[in-house]
Amino acid sequence: MSQFASDFMAELKAKNPGEPEFHQAAQEVVESLDLVLERRPVYRKFKILERIAEPERVILFRVPWMDDKGEIQIQKGYRIEMNSAIGPYKGGLRFHPTVNIGILKFLAFEQVFKNALTTLPMGGGKGGANFDPKGKSDDEVMRFCQSFMMELFRHIGPNTDVPAGDIGVGGREIGFMFGMYRRLRNEFTGVLTGKGMTWGGSLIRPEATGYGATYFAANMLATRGETMKGKVCLVSGSGNVAQYTIEKVNQMGGKCVTLSDSSGFIYDPAGIDSKRLDFVMDLKNVRRGRIKEYSDIFKSATFTPGNPQLKYNPLWDIKADCAFPSATQNEINAQDAQNLVDNGIKVVSEGANMPTTPDGAAIFIENGILYGPGKAANAGGVATSGLEMSQNSQRYAWTREEVDAKLQGIMKSIHDNCRARAEEFGTPGNYVNGANIAGFLKVADAMIDQGLV
Ligand code: NAP
Repeated sequence: MSQFASDFMAELKAKNPGEPEFHQAAQEVVESLDLVLERRPVYRKFKILERIAEPERVILFRVPWMDDKGEIQIQKGYRIEMNSAIGPYKGGLRFHPTVNIGILKFLAFEQVFKNALTTLPMGGGKGGANFDPKGKSDDEVMRFCQSFMMELFRHIGPNTDVPAGDIGVGGREIGFMFGMYRRLRNEFTGVLTGKGMTWGGSLIRPEATGYGATYFAANMLATRGETMKGKVCLVSGSGNVAQYTIEKVNQMGGKCVTLSDSSGFIYDPAGIDSKRLDFVMDLKNVRRGRIKEYSDIFKSATFTPGNPQLKYNPLWDIKADCAFPSATQNEINAQDAQNLVDNGIKVVSEGANMPTTPDGAAIFIENGILYGPGKAANAGGVATSGLEMSQNSQRYAWTREEVDAKLQGIMKSIHDNCRARAEEFGTPGNYVNGANIAGFLKVADAMIDQGLV
């Protein structure tokens, strides 16, 4: 790391204490940018990195709501409006008990670079609440979402800030929040993405992150003359991203053998085919059950409960060709990465945001693994949200085939852009550097053009 990078990190940590995920995300970017800042000192002169690392606005608010027993509950709600140099703030809302400012700042920071990579005009933001939808009734979730929107509505808008889903926020939650926004504002606009198909949603948006991560993996494999056909894949998580990753891997002739949730993982060597995936979708999206039930029904599968005493996750110690971490941040540590490498992994395509720790990522890169970092590999979701915004403003809906073709084109262009920038700045094949540099250059140049704001 250069002297500038280490001074920058020391200052960032001092200014943002107790936010380890944000420090981690910033460190990865600043390390990638060493050569860029050396070759183009204008970015240092205009303090672009220092400005990008400071949110334009942080909104923190109380969310009171009443549970089914008539008891009052209080949650913390947040929206981090990180950077709007190239378009309105755009990024998901996360409802999970672990949500705090540091986690949302890391996600918003990553979002700035990711959105720039999509080629669409979107700035970066992220938000959410320390609310846990698990175990709550639909009525409780609705009351919470309505209360959350009663404050958030004054900060967002189709030309200002356009939130979407993330962990714990799917179609149900977007519906409840959109309904309250519409009532409060008395207007029907594309203020949220991930909407239902009959009220402004885009075809392929639910599928887009998982499909996109699979397209990204296929693009990486193509650089070595290979395809997804016959590839055995490990997938973690069992929510939106994991489900549609499996659907696309199946369509491309691969086979997924794992799924997980916070209670453990299932391993099904027979493969999670479309019939089994239908079961998972019903289990997770309708009945909201636990992944263990999969192994109760499908006898070829085994369930391994999560064991916090273990220093590694046995899911990543299964022999496979491709890994699609699709649950949460820091779910692959150095030992997991080493296990994957020792078992002959060829591709890691990150559906989740920052699922690999920095020492884990270093192991992938040192071993020449085709390693697609989240801000590139999972950008298909936000890219299709961008397409939803375009359709909303035209009051027009593209067909499934049209949206899918655009998504594939965007994932290819992100892939090629990452490769080209990595090569240009002396680290060929390093998609981490390529993604950070390509995203940074676009936002940095826009910030210089727009003066000191
Ligand atoms: P989701 O539908 O809520 O599913 C999340 C899955 O991950 C669930 O199976 C959940 O299990 C599991 N999980 C969450 N936290 C966990 C933890 N601490 N330990 C173990 N398992 C955990 O969310 P999603 O939309 O698929 O998002 C998954 C990841 O993709 C996140 O990193 C998100 O930021 C990223 N991402 C999502 C999108 C999108 O369009 N949705 C776009 C880009 C990136 P439990 O139910 O047991 O908690």
